[in-house]
Amino acid sequence: MKRVLLLGGTGDALRVARHLGPAHVYSLAGLGRTPKDLACRVRVGGFGGVAGLAGFIEAESIGLIVDATHPYAAQMSRHASAAGALAQATCWALRRAAWQPQAGDDWRDAADFAAIIDLIASYERPLWTVGREPLSHLDAIPASQHWTLRCLDTHPGHERATIIAARGPFTLEGERALFDQHRTDVLISKNSGGDATEAKLVVARERGVPVVMLQRPVLPPVQREFTQVSALIDALETWLNPTPLSDKTP
Ligand code: NAP
Repeated sequence: MKRVLLLGGTGDALRVARHLGPAHVYSLAGLGRTPKDLACRVRVGGFGGVAGLAGFIEAESIGLIVDATHPYAAQMSRHASAAGALAQATCWALRRAAWQPQAGDDWRDAADFAAIIDLIASYERPLWTVGREPLSHLDAIPASQHWTLRCLDTHPGHERATIIAARGPFTLEGERALFDQHRTDVLISKNSGGDATEAKLVVARERGVPVVMLQRPVLPPVQREFTQVSALIDALETWLNPTPLSDKTP
């Protein structure tokens, strides 16, 4: 039996999981919702590092790991690549293409959180869309700024920040309203790629609002890399049901 371990936590991964039968495992970190309507097995929570993941792969006779985690979930991607090598399982990855700046965009690259803080120093109303990291810096917000911070986590709030717990996808109309309501003068974003959270970039372009883009982490090499969900699903179907040699046309 050929068994697949799909590492998820993204909408793309969920689309792939819908193609997997009961022999296969869909794994989530446990930060978001756990789907209840999948044919495959769903497991939730960390594996306990590379050794834990390699142990899981061996115990479950996994032949193929598919890393469909978010492009900024670099630790899980590194663990998948290393554990695959240790446990002699093949490792593929779904890595969606980064967004590219278009005419009218004013993007500035930031290597890390400290670089973001420098780049937004002269702005007053930053909109943060990079996850929970800014929550641990609320007490360092300069007096000249009020932060709007959108992430998955709920938070009691802060005198110099408005914290919005929300999950994509986000619409263009909704993002326009968000920029208006919070008088956003600079947007801070990951370069996640894909459609689900792209509308904020369109609004920034429309309004001439600069975007501070957190650079993508370096991800480990894998045996096969896909940028499209459909190509990955096709390859998975071929991996699970390879054409017998005798069926091949000469
Ligand atoms: P991370 O820093 O790369 O991973 C931290 C730890 O969480 C991993 O070492 C692993 O724990 C556990 N983990 C992560 N993904 C897992 C999975 N699919 N199944 C089981 N354990 C997993 O990841 P992160 O940035 O915290 O993201 C966590 C999850 O949220 C990922 O699944 C990712 O796809 C999703 N997500 C992340 C972002 C983002 O911007 N980072 C955005 C949207 C969704 P052990 O070492 O114990 O195995």
